[in-house]
Amino acid sequence: KFITFEGIDGAGKSTHIPFVTQLLRDRGLTVVATREPGGTELGERLRELVLHHKMHLETEALLMFASRREHLAQVIEPALARGDWVISDRFTDATFAYQGGGRKLALDKLDRLEQWVHPHLQPDLTLLFDVPLEVARARLDAERTLDKFEQEKADFFANTRAEYLRRAAQFPHRFRLIDSTRPIAVIQEDLRAIVAAL
Ligand code: C5P
Repeated sequence: KFITFEGIDGAGKSTHIPFVTQLLRDRGLTVVATREPGGTELGERLRELVLHHKMHLETEALLMFASRREHLAQVIEPALARGDWVISDRFTDATFAYQGGGRKLALDKLDRLEQWVHPHLQPDLTLLFDVPLEVARARLDAERTLDKFEQEKADFFANTRAEYLRRAAQFPHRFRLIDSTRPIAVIQEDLRAIVAAL
């Protein structure tokens, strides 16, 4: 099975990935935990470029899908073929949310790239960690220095979040919306139930 974690910066997904990974391992499953952009040596180099260099919006989107193509070929598809479980910190929904929603790249272009790069594969489960912008911002300010995306204006994140929520409504069979303003222990109980059902 293929599980993806999504949400705007500061929504708390990184807090919960180790928990879900461990839940699955406790059940004796082999879990490959990976991330995007990144996940391969080439992908990590692309991540570095995308996150820290100014570039044309379409270049950015193409690099996201280039990184994803490599990630699928080297990590995700072989793992799923072996019967392992894959947990990815972000996947294609993030490209729709950030480059599409946040930066306003036409969604039909992203649709076409998705059709090209993974016409058949979709996550079995997408956990969308959702918080209001002020909560996300406060968490980031408390935590670390911001990368180029995190320095964006509030409406960038509002649009990114809105696109995530729109996709969650569009693909209800695989999305689970996690209200990430709640205490960690409460969220973990939710995650336990969701994972058990899967
Ligand atoms: O999830 P993580 O913190 O690793 O993401 C790193 C950065 O990449 C985030 O600041 C996020 O805003 C950005 N990003 C992006 N477009 C994507 C995926 C991530 O702008 N498709």
